Amino acid sequence: MKVAVFSTKAYDRTFLEAANTQTKHELVFLEPRLNCETSVLATGCQAVCAFVNDELNAKTLSKLASLGIKLIALRSAGYNNVDLVKAGNLGLTVVRVPAYSPYAIAEHTIGLILALNRRIHRAYNRVREGNFSLEGLLGFDLHGKTVGIVGTGRIGTITSQIFQGFGCKVLAYDKAPQEDNQSLEYVAFPQLLAAADIVSLHCPLTAETHHLIDAKTIAQMKTGVMLINTSRGALIDTKAAIIGLKSGKIGYLGIDVYEQEGDLFFEDLSSVVIQDDLFERLLTFPNVLITGHQSFFTTDALTSIAETTLSNISDFEQGLVCSNQVTAGQN
Ligand code: NAD
Repeated sequence: MKVAVFSTKAYDRTFLEAANTQTKHELVFLEPRLNCETSVLATGCQAVCAFVNDELNAKTLSKLASLGIKLIALRSAGYNNVDLVKAGNLGLTVVRVPAYSPYAIAEHTIGLILALNRRIHRAYNRVREGNFSLEGLLGFDLHGKTVGIVGTGRIGTITSQIFQGFGCKVLAYDKAPQEDNQSLEYVAFPQLLAAADIVSLHCPLTAETHHLIDAKTIAQMKTGVMLINTSRGALIDTKAAIIGLKSGKIGYLGIDVYEQEGDLFFEDLSSVVIQDDLFERLLTFPNVLITGHQSFFTTDALTSIAETTLSNISDFEQGLVCSNQVTAGQN
């Protein structure tokens, strides 16, 4: 099948080409992000392959359908960037990679927590400048602390297991709890917020979870809480988080995703004046650690993403039912 691969980086090409030795699709690698204007680049293809910040809104999907595109193959787990209702109405099939390596994201979550707690990012810079002072680097033991996991799917469950290994008490909240999982202690969301020293977000971005963390829910948290988001940026109302950081209500913020990341992440903007004042304000806090949506970025995950994406495309081409299809109403 001829596939237009949007938002291609060198690493995408490497891993997709390696996996394609088995599937032998015709891959057209395109650097631009997919949106209504760039969709014309898919002319002559039957499928597009898209990533997290590609804009698969109604306008883009209509344009793609008019070009004869039949399949949207996401090389991500999240599909909040796709208007699934419109895709369904246009007869476009949407497939994704539901579980490439939940370990990659869970482990990066822990990395953010350890770095923030023990100020490893600050210590690294200090030591390189010959500053061996410990002032300002004071951390706390994770052992014995209470962690609130919001969303106990693949990533949330593994993150919980790692925290239990540290000797933390894990409280969980999910709108669809795993009834048979005895190792998770489910509580109501307000109860989790009130008890947790660390709140870690692992639910998808939906209409229901948009700004799940806002002024109201921040007010319900412990003073000095550590808030971690490796899921999707818009789970947190950034303005409310900044107010929480300024007041000290939020003691630490670790994020791998950001509400407006589409204008920033995955590009080298080091010579550009960044216009996003909220993002720039976040960077001024000593207790904020931001990574640019890199949780998924391990060789294991990229191999799995490439293999599953191409196998999803093969399933569609052969008219097979693909278990990785997503449709409106799923969450
Ligand atoms: P999953 O589908 O296995 O689990 C999601 C869980 O969230 C489910 O148990 C679901 O019931 C729960 N949930 C849904 N709506 C909820 C709500 N309103 N309140 C509470 N819980 C709710 O997904 P996963 O594989 O664990 O991934 C979780 C999220 O992580 C994805 O949706 C994606 O946005 C994000 N992600 C980020 C990266 C990254 O690189 N930063 C990579 C992969 C996934």
